[in-house]
Amino acid sequence: MATLVGIDLGGTHVMAAIVDGERIGARAEREIVDHAFDVVIKQIADAVQEVRKSAQGGLDAIGIGSPGNIDLRSGTIRYSPNFGWENAPLGSTLHEQFGVPVFVGNDARCATLAEYAYGTGRSTTDFVLLTLGTGIGGGIIADGSLVLGVAGGAGEFGHHQVRATDGFICGCGKIGCFEAQASGTGLLRHALATAPSFPRSALLEPRKPEKPVGSKQIRRAAAGGDPHAVAAWTRYVDDLARGLANVIAFVSPQVIALGGGLSSAGDFLLDAVRPRVDALTTMVPRGGTRLVVAELGNDAGAIGAALMARRGALTTKDPA
Ligand SMILES: [Zn+2]
Repeated sequence: MATLVGIDLGGTHVMAAIVDGERIGARAEREIVDHAFDVVIKQIADAVQEVRKSAQGGLDAIGIGSPGNIDLRSGTIRYSPNFGWENAPLGSTLHEQFGVPVFVGNDARCATLAEYAYGTGRSTTDFVLLTLGTGIGGGIIADGSLVLGVAGGAGEFGHHQVRATDGFICGCGKIGCFEAQASGTGLLRHALATAPSFPRSALLEPRKPEKPVGSKQIRRAAAGGDPHAVAAWTRYVDDLARGLANVIAFVSPQVIALGGGLSSAGDFLLDAVRPRVDALTTMVPRGGTRLVVAELGNDAGAIGAALMARRGALTTKDPA
């Protein structure tokens, strides 16, 4: 049995774990404060060293899910706005340190592989995962294969525009990207944008000064009927539905699974968004795509990264 390490690299922390199928064994986490390449490598290597101690007989391969556009052959990050990196040799640097094969893939595509193999994608051939967190990531399985597109760019749903003329400015520079409107940060933007209509609202006043209000508080306040939060939530749901209807028009999957922080809203989110998606679904039979909450949660990235390492490529196919 091969010993595989799956790594989920994010902008603020990295998690490395011994992964066996969908099961996470020993895990180690490190905070990432400094985004300099050498510093991030050290944090990753520290976390890998820690979990390696629990693996008798050493490691066989390492898989890393990282934000950004990645050269899958070399494991080089072509660019990652989260880290400010260009052509960062992540795979080869860790390979030199650990002497085992290292595979690097986009974090959301790794999570898609995992959710397809072990979660809500299990019995499908056409599947989409969308992670609604600080940003929006995604991945497409079509006819049983992960769609990579040219240079691994397929699945960047976060940067299709759903409000190109009246939306928020996206981190990528465009106006009204799906990510700007419908990520967790998007919900916060909607709360800020609707604030002038609710001058007496306390929604955006933090209860503790050191902890600013986030999407979770706004969503909970909306569930509780707070008028300002309801206004923000209604706009949020409308923009999320626009993006989801577009995904259905392009890909027509059997299942779209929603992951990331916002998906913990569960039925409160699904019940609100389903009728809006139906209303915006034209030319494709309505209700043909099931909208569900992803099952694997925060560990999907590491599980998918280890699966990529086991298969030796970012693919749904097991080696012959
Ligand atoms: Zn964008």
